[in-house]
Amino acid sequence: MANSQIPAVPLGPLSSRPVQVTCPSCQQVVVSQVDYSAGLLTYLFCGGLFLCGFVLGCCLIPFCVDRLRNAQHSCPSCKALLGVHKRL
Ligand SMILES: [Zn+2]
Repeated sequence: MANSQIPAVPLGPLSSRPVQVTCPSCQQVVVSQVDYSAGLLTYLFCGGLFLCGFVLGCCLIPFCVDRLRNAQHSCPSCKALLGVHKRL
């Protein structure tokens, strides 16, 4: 790629939302694909609910709450892992 005017977006503090980054793998400007994986907080939250009684499958709720999960940014083009935003 001859044009080097691509704004270098630091892969520093990633949010849990898709961000525009230059993929270090395929050198393309892409909007990162965010996958949410269950993070430690999710399990802690789940454990807390479990201790309070696991009636009605309440302990499964955290796995549906994106806010409690790690956000994994990956390149939609080459599937390279760009970074992970952790909740803890
Ligand atoms: Zn890529």
